[in-house]
Amino acid sequence: MKSKALLQLAEEFGTPLFVYDADIMESQYKRLVNAFDGLKLNIQYACKALSNQAVLQHFNALGAGLDTVSIEEVQLGLRAGFTPDRIIYTPNGVSFEEIQEAVKLGVKINIDNLVMLEKFGSEYGSSYPVCVRMNPHIVAGGNHKIQVGHIDSKFGISIHQTRHLTRIIEAYKIHVNGLHMHTGSDILDVGVFLQGSELLLEAAFHFKELEYVDFGSGFKVAYKPNDVSTNIEELGAKLTERFKAFCKEYGKDLELAFEPGKFLVSESGTFLCKVNVIKQTTATVFAGVDTGFNHFIRPMFYDSYHHITNISNPEGAERIYTVVGYICETDTFAWDRKITEINENDILAFQNAGAYVFAMSSNYNSRLKPAEVLLKNSKAHLITRRQTLEDLLVNQVDVSHLF
Ligand SMILES: *Cc1c(COP(=O)(O)O)cnc(C)c1O
Repeated sequence: MKSKALLQLAEEFGTPLFVYDADIMESQYKRLVNAFDGLKLNIQYACKALSNQAVLQHFNALGAGLDTVSIEEVQLGLRAGFTPDRIIYTPNGVSFEEIQEAVKLGVKINIDNLVMLEKFGSEYGSSYPVCVRMNPHIVAGGNHKIQVGHIDSKFGISIHQTRHLTRIIEAYKIHVNGLHMHTGSDILDVGVFLQGSELLLEAAFHFKELEYVDFGSGFKVAYKPNDVSTNIEELGAKLTERFKAFCKEYGKDLELAFEPGKFLVSESGTFLCKVNVIKQTTATVFAGVDTGFNHFIRPMFYDSYHHITNISNPEGAERIYTVVGYICETDTFAWDRKITEINENDILAFQNAGAYVFAMSSNYNSRLKPAEVLLKNSKAHLITRRQTLEDLLVNQVDVSHLF
């Protein structure tokens, strides 16, 4: 988005502010659909990345399915208009009661451990189909905190446990209609996806009643200028061909599913904040902004890079800044970053603010959460109002009579 238009939004809605462009979500969605042309394809938006109702409604209207990891996300998906058969529920470490609740709601269920599968089998037998999440032990992903396929990971049923898995399925006559893997986030290498896919497709022959194979997600997007992202078109061409050959051998045209979060929404988001102070120390020039890791935790939590521009002075001379938040802890968004000269009250724009940013925000330091705006049909629509002090108190119970 152009600096001028963003400045206007900062003026109109105040800062800090999240701005999402619905057209970018749509073009990313279509890029995936086009890359896998010729297959029965199901793109399920991973709603943990950004779970506003407007965003869910947008993907539902585009024809996407929904990937959920908690019963609350299932409920939010249903509320946004997804039919239960378009929602897959892939929890980890939840209680059996929560899985039973998902069965009642009628969504697709993905089970990722043998104990739960046995419970599921003894409760439902073959009466409710289920997907199983395999762990192919592929080590991939941008940061160790987001790698989930390795041998020490808590996710999935190890591919080496396939024999035990099939024994449980036979004993309880469980109707396994889907096979799933998800190995991490920020995976660049198409070869890694193909390697994981190969292991999953080999395992698929142990399951006779499959209707879909879900290859999870983890596609990398560009964060830095000149960064490369996963080559979706190359992956699409190669995996489509491989999947068609697999289906032929399997004897049935299965659906190929993905569940991207970051790929669909990361680049659609821009975060706007205002510079409160320029503070020069002996070693560094800090630009202190009206937000912190309470709103935007990724740099501190994942060491992620988010490109920052000064949209109040886009043509100015570049200088070196360390951009920091207002939280009373080390709270750094960018170290030694070249940004066009910054003055007090300038508006900074952070890129890649769509995925895992607002969704991971908190009220730490008793700060209010920012507003969110969605750009659709060339207009800005408020989709989350800025919090007020009352919002911080709404669930607190008044026991002042005790004191
Ligand atoms: C988080 C998650 C995704 C989405 O991953 P991205 O890297 O955002 O695309 C997909 N599937 C499952 C099971 C997940 O936990």
